[in-house]
Amino acid sequence: MENKKIPYKIYLDENEIPEYWYNLRAFMKNKPAPLLNPQTQEPATLEELSNVFCEELAKQELDDTTKYIKIPDQIRDFYKMYRPAPLVRAYCLEKALGTPAKIYYKFEGNNTSGSHKLNSAIAQAYYAKEQGLKGVTTETGAGQWGTALSMACSYFGLDCNVYMVKCSYEQKPHRREVMRVYGANVTPSPSNTTKVGREILEKFPGTNGSLGCAISEAVEVATNTEGYRYALGSVLNQVLLHQSIIGLETKAALDKYGITPDIIIGCAGGGSNLGGLIAPFMGDKIEGKNNCQFIAVEPSSCPTLTRGKYAYDYCDTGKVCPLAKMYTLGSGFMPAPSHAGGLRYHGMTTTLSQLYADGLMEARSVEQTSVFEAAEYFARVEGTLPAPESSHAIKVAIDEAKRCIETGEEKTILFGLTGTGYFDMISYEKFHDGIMSDYIPTDDEINASLANLPKIK
Ligand SMILES: *Cc1c(COP(=O)(O)O)cnc(C)c1O
Repeated sequence: MENKKIPYKIYLDENEIPEYWYNLRAFMKNKPAPLLNPQTQEPATLEELSNVFCEELAKQELDDTTKYIKIPDQIRDFYKMYRPAPLVRAYCLEKALGTPAKIYYKFEGNNTSGSHKLNSAIAQAYYAKEQGLKGVTTETGAGQWGTALSMACSYFGLDCNVYMVKCSYEQKPHRREVMRVYGANVTPSPSNTTKVGREILEKFPGTNGSLGCAISEAVEVATNTEGYRYALGSVLNQVLLHQSIIGLETKAALDKYGITPDIIIGCAGGGSNLGGLIAPFMGDKIEGKNNCQFIAVEPSSCPTLTRGKYAYDYCDTGKVCPLAKMYTLGSGFMPAPSHAGGLRYHGMTTTLSQLYADGLMEARSVEQTSVFEAAEYFARVEGTLPAPESSHAIKVAIDEAKRCIETGEEKTILFGLTGTGYFDMISYEKFHDGIMSDYIPTDDEINASLANLPKIK
């Protein structure tokens, strides 16, 4: 094993795509706190969740005991169209940095939607189809999730109604058109098509919109329209479960060469790619089988883990979704509009929140311009144009590899390269033109937003 030369790309055979998702919560000693009904503050029931989500997905949402959940054949067949995703040994990056560290990344940008989000989109569309629904509603921020869900819905012949955060709708017309290629209806949010949208527009005319607000609109339409349910691209337990395919494939590839990473790094918006990447490694750590270090990387402009509070909060601005106990900046938190790309969500998935609270995972926040410097450096040495979100992980992976130069340690560093940057050239343009700013919210701004956390009985 030791002498076997590691290839630039470790590919798996399509038959090696995992047959089961990995339910990390079932391995955790301290389970994430339950979702609560926002009216009664009692734990959300299967029945309540089934009004919002497909029934099978509602079951997955509540399941914190089944360790492995079978991936239906039709989903696995779809996965075969773009998976297994390559695990790349970043030889060129190692050489350019002059580091003794060994760096690997799992690239999830090799599909038309351009990111890992398709892994959960296809699962959510499948269960909607199985239940005999007509379609789904959703929100999208930067556009990746809306694109992924549009692709998944068109594959299964379902309607897809996307509420797209207004500033992205205007700034990313190409994202919108890709969704329309796949037959989706795209509405800028806030809109006057929903009650919550009209209320927000009245209170904040001229608002750029936010994810929390678009979620409220999509949920309102799903729960009031016969044959529709709501789909969400991150944050939820079900999404982390589906994204475990990332970590399982990575582990299967590394196991072929007897490699266990010392450090695993991922960007964290709602936490789904990171939760999926670390799942089997974290499960092993909890069982004492490895001693990996896990690092979540978030933008300084939306510092949920590093500066937020661990408390029950609303998942959306309109307060229609269940309450979740998570690290949060408050559901009314609006990141600066100058902030590029995703990773703008005010909260963090309950699983990662609990792992962070228990000291099993670390978090770092990084500034936008340093992220783009890392992105460009990476593109020049490794060839692949990274998404700005993914580049948060690149930045910290490079920092860690540089630290190894000082200490002489030959650490194995793994990070998630969640997507391609092709749809983010406006952000790259701002970076090149020197007009990108690093807005960091003040303590007063964060405290003002946290003052509106719900009071829990
Ligand atoms: C959506 C997205 C993210 C962040 O979402 P998570 O749920 O935190 O994974 C990261 N990278 C890309 C490319 C994305 O599209």
